[in-house]
Amino acid sequence: MTNKRLAMESQAIHAGEFHDPSGAHIAPIHQTSTFSFPDMDTVARWGAGEVEADIYTRVGNPTRRALAAKLAALESIGLDGSVDVGAEIFSSGMAAIAASLMGLARAGDHVITQNVLYGSTDHLVSDVLPEYGVTTSRVPGLDPDRLEQELATRPETTAVFLETPANPTMRIIDIATTVAIAHEHGAKVVVDNTFATPVLQRPLSLGADVVVHSTTKYINGHGTVIGGAAVYRDAAELGDRIARLIKFTGGVPSSFDCWLTNLGLKTLPLRMERHCANATEVAAFLADHEKVVAAHYPGLVDHPGHEVAAKQMDGFGAMIAFDLGSYAAAARFLDGLELCALAVSLGNIDSLVEHPASMTHRVVPPEQRQAAGITDGLVRMSVGLEAVGDIIDDLEQALAL
Ligand SMILES: *Cc1c(COP(=O)(O)O)cnc(C)c1O
Repeated sequence: MTNKRLAMESQAIHAGEFHDPSGAHIAPIHQTSTFSFPDMDTVARWGAGEVEADIYTRVGNPTRRALAAKLAALESIGLDGSVDVGAEIFSSGMAAIAASLMGLARAGDHVITQNVLYGSTDHLVSDVLPEYGVTTSRVPGLDPDRLEQELATRPETTAVFLETPANPTMRIIDIATTVAIAHEHGAKVVVDNTFATPVLQRPLSLGADVVVHSTTKYINGHGTVIGGAAVYRDAAELGDRIARLIKFTGGVPSSFDCWLTNLGLKTLPLRMERHCANATEVAAFLADHEKVVAAHYPGLVDHPGHEVAAKQMDGFGAMIAFDLGSYAAAARFLDGLELCALAVSLGNIDSLVEHPASMTHRVVPPEQRQAAGITDGLVRMSVGLEAVGDIIDDLEQALAL
């Protein structure tokens, strides 16, 4: 069910849900590889396009479709009803990102991105796509003048890819401005919306063509699944270019994983509210602490992207990066944490803290890391849903060591 008039919180619970004939209130898990036809007459009518049927789970499965419909509904809020939005769920965020870029850029085409991207996306863009004849280039922060110049010199550009807020430095990119420039040059815009989620930021409503997610993070929210999604406008055209690839590249999620992710997604609006409230207090605590050299959180008024974030987001999220000045100080702090876990990933109900230079961004060459602001003292935190007083107490005792 999708009712465009329902608010975000209601859509998160009801959109895409289906009820099975047993009367079970919660949709069952269609844990099956294949689907049987009742008879050859149905096969013939399915073949003629007269009836729809699931035939094989790589191609389609009701549990996966329910999750796709829910996510499409949430990303569509704010769009007028004439935009036909489609979505596909993949077995990881990277499968969704790879399908989106493969769908939009073919051999001879060009892709432009900002300078710092999620580590595996960075590798895909720098090393893998060029092996298939897709050239790529970087424009730091997708600065509007430099983007305009790059598009003018690379007329074969078919896609501009961006992340905002960006991992791990929390840099903000203006989505509407990027869209206006890219569209003028005939390029589509893909936004990785993993850090913000549709609750805080809806890139399609700002003109973007494709939104990708690592559903592993906030959308599932409980740390139980690796998953991804691509949501796109012009469902017929972009679905044919992007979603169709799941069938041929095979990044298919299990039905159980889709079911768990759908369950998590139902509480996303509620979780994001508390994630943001906790992060606001944690960021204020860190910004004031004498041992913290710099705190990067778009909700802080002195963050360079604060105004753009306030304009294009409905909240500042719960990812914070902060600099403790040296590797030794960062390591002492991370070793001293008791409540927060030392772990990569983010968006879980529990607080996770990591050291980008040794963990998520270990493979980025040191010079490129420095240029991107990923210093040896930088710590990244995904603020969880514990009582904020307990989170701050833990940070305080570890900072005192
Ligand atoms: C985790 C993440 C990805 C990759 O997603 P996987 O589910 O791990 O494949 C892509 N982009 C961002 C911003 C991420 O945080």
